[in-house]
Amino acid sequence: MTNVTVLAGDGIGPEIVHEAMRVLDAVNSAHNLGITTNEQLFGGAAYDKHNDPLPEVTLNACREADAILLGSVGGPVYDQAPRQLRPERGLLRLRSELDLFANLRPAMLFPELANASSLKPELVSGLDMMILRELTSGLYFGEPRGIEERNGVRVGFNTMVYSEPEIERIARRGFEIAMQRGKRLCSVDKMNVLEVSELWREVVERVGKEYPEVELSHLFVDNAAMQLVRAPKQFDVIVTGNIFGDILSDAAAMLTGSIGMLPSASLDSNGKGMYEPVHGSAPDIAGQGIANPLATILSVSMMLRYSLNQSGAADAIDKAVANVLSNGYRCQDIAAESDGAKIQVVNTSQMGDAVLNALDSAS
Ligand code: NAD
Repeated sequence: MTNVTVLAGDGIGPEIVHEAMRVLDAVNSAHNLGITTNEQLFGGAAYDKHNDPLPEVTLNACREADAILLGSVGGPVYDQAPRQLRPERGLLRLRSELDLFANLRPAMLFPELANASSLKPELVSGLDMMILRELTSGLYFGEPRGIEERNGVRVGFNTMVYSEPEIERIARRGFEIAMQRGKRLCSVDKMNVLEVSELWREVVERVGKEYPEVELSHLFVDNAAMQLVRAPKQFDVIVTGNIFGDILSDAAAMLTGSIGMLPSASLDSNGKGMYEPVHGSAPDIAGQGIANPLATILSVSMMLRYSLNQSGAADAIDKAVANVLSNGYRCQDIAAESDGAKIQVVNTSQMGDAVLNALDSAS
């Protein structure tokens, strides 16, 4: 029996996870996958009930699961909560507790959405790249951190730190992913300014010697940001640290037309993973039923492929999503004006229905 823990979270989280669960249920029956699911409170929803964004019961359910499906957490109401109890802290803690150090963020452009990108269609059409972000160390976890008074002046400070083994394991994952794809890996750092990046580059170079077939290149993060919007198709796999990956993957998100289209995976060293859309809880549209559920539905597909070894069911979902797009269905976030009369703008549940229908008619 395969067990998936589901964390709907906050904001649009419950709306999009609901649609993703309908899709998971459908492939579960159609492909006889034997998956059971159990839902747990997480983030702001858990803070409201248990005064803790990551209660013990939720953490244990995640530990015992074969995979985790997450919506999104956070929202303005929680910005006043004590820092340690904010939903985003719960997320950082969960990733850290489960040692989910490798964050995979594919940026692919469905041809139908080339007009929704802010770049010219010829620059992005056919884009297929993967950003691999280190997720459990670096600036977001480094100590010391805090806000304190020094000589009568308040200062805020954080620490960017990477150990050699931490760099080595993410680099290795990067080379392995590159081997399964176009055999090109670009490591992004800021070696001209940061000592932590000096070590990063040295270790990546060393690991690279074990993968002679992979063409390794390096970019400073500022140049990487420029290249990403200048000529994104030059990239196959990018490997980078926590904060650089956070920013670059959001930029890559816009290349694909919408943050509402992008799934992600965070894996431990055994392949167990947490799957979630790249976007946040979108408080500006929460409760309106208009959020795009496709990133979460595609996260289910990644979960089936990378943690549950069910590539047939994953392919079926990917095909259904492609069908839905080529049939003209769009949530408001991907309905570029230039698409004109060819498209039909749908809400969250109608998009879920469209994917289910496409799955049905394919089987
Ligand atoms: P966001 O991703 O929530 O929203 C950015 C913009 O994209 C908004 O205009 C939103 O309406 C739109 N958007 C996002 N997802 C969409 C979808 N599925 N369909 C249609 N439009 C969508 O980022 P933000 O506004 O910076 O953050 C909001 C909250 O989410 C904050 O509390 C933040 O901390 C949290 N957050 C959580 C996660 C996570 O759970 N992994 C990630 C990022 C941000």
